[in-house]
Amino acid sequence: MNQSAPLQIVFKNIHKANSHTLPVYLKGGGYKAMAEALAKTPEEVINEVKTSGIRGRGGAGFPAGIKWSFIPKSSTKPKYLVCNADEGEPGTCKDRDILRFDPHLLIEGMVIAAFAVGSERGYIYIRGEFFLESQRVEGAIREAYAKGYLGDNILGTGVRFDLAVHLGAGAYVCGEETALLESLEGKKGQPRVKPPFPANVGLWGGPTVINNVETLASIPAILEHGGGWYAGLGVEKSTGTKIFSVSGHVNRPGNYEVEMGLPLKRLLEEYAGGVRGGWDNLKGVIPGGSSSPVLGKQVCETVTMDYDSIARAGSMLGSGAVVVMDKSVCIVRAIARISRFYRHESCGQCTPCREGTGWLSQIVTRIEAGGGQPGDIELLEELCGNISGRTICALGDAAAMPVAGAIRAFRDEFVYHVEHGRCLVE
Ligand code: SF4
Repeated sequence: MNQSAPLQIVFKNIHKANSHTLPVYLKGGGYKAMAEALAKTPEEVINEVKTSGIRGRGGAGFPAGIKWSFIPKSSTKPKYLVCNADEGEPGTCKDRDILRFDPHLLIEGMVIAAFAVGSERGYIYIRGEFFLESQRVEGAIREAYAKGYLGDNILGTGVRFDLAVHLGAGAYVCGEETALLESLEGKKGQPRVKPPFPANVGLWGGPTVINNVETLASIPAILEHGGGWYAGLGVEKSTGTKIFSVSGHVNRPGNYEVEMGLPLKRLLEEYAGGVRGGWDNLKGVIPGGSSSPVLGKQVCETVTMDYDSIARAGSMLGSGAVVVMDKSVCIVRAIARISRFYRHESCGQCTPCREGTGWLSQIVTRIEAGGGQPGDIELLEELCGNISGRTICALGDAAAMPVAGAIRAFRDEFVYHVEHGRCLVE
């Protein structure tokens, strides 16, 4: 891993004036990777992406090339490519920048992906709040059609791909891929029971690939430079670059694209301007969006920003939303707020999630308000255990993990709250 200079693969254009327009994109070499990819076979393209080792950037981290290879070649039903641009994990704001500042990069990545899996129809599912972003993407799609980068005979190759934008209505759970498909079909956005998985039975019953915005926006660079080049970036099992959305108590919050494996401390101190009040004022960091367990300062000293290192530390890389908390933060209050969010966003299909998220929220909120009782902390732990892994989708785990993780890392604060009826930091 070479971290001497920031390498911008996905964010290579966003600092240019009018970066969202086709002329600026073409000037930077846009759509060349697509033209080269269309001259290969679909299998060659998939192999290149497999070689790159890129894992889905939406949160689950599943290898993209392997996901593409699951699409059956012999299906009689139409195949679909869907871009998940629902970006709803609290703390995450990276896909939004790609959508509004470099929509052609996403479109180019989608054409390559569609060609690889044999899809002639794609959708970009954008959360409804991203109105400017959806307009930018729609404008870029119009430009791409006009120049022959989309449509029924792309660049005269005979390859066909039609692409449209669909706006969601703001439900967090629609970021879950099967809930997204339900919503796209015009139904209530509730996750489906799996199997069958979307690769076999997806949108309108057809084989479907669903990829995150950042994943698809990384594809042109992989095809341009080769999968081996991309695999040489980052660290083993966490290759390439990743955009981290750093928010909270740092001096320069923002989106930073860095090679995977960068030490968290360097990300905060060198890129995000340092922790407010200095490194010693750090209390903890949520490393991968609000559903990932918080890490205490001691762990933050050594953990690196890759899937394995963060998993070993007891948390998740998730969507790459790094929420920094200094010593002014009451962890119990922060978790009460997070729990309220998941309670609100539960779709209600499964009992452990529907009831459990409500109980978690009520108990943490009561502790925070000074009404904690002996046994509350153990009850919270038991509840988390009864939710995790017992639901249709990962929202149940997403609600339980931050509570269980915060108790693990900051048990003394919960105990103090219960025993004294107030916050340790006040
Ligand atoms: Fe709905 Fe929660 Fe069950 Fe997911 S885990 S399907 S959000 S009730």
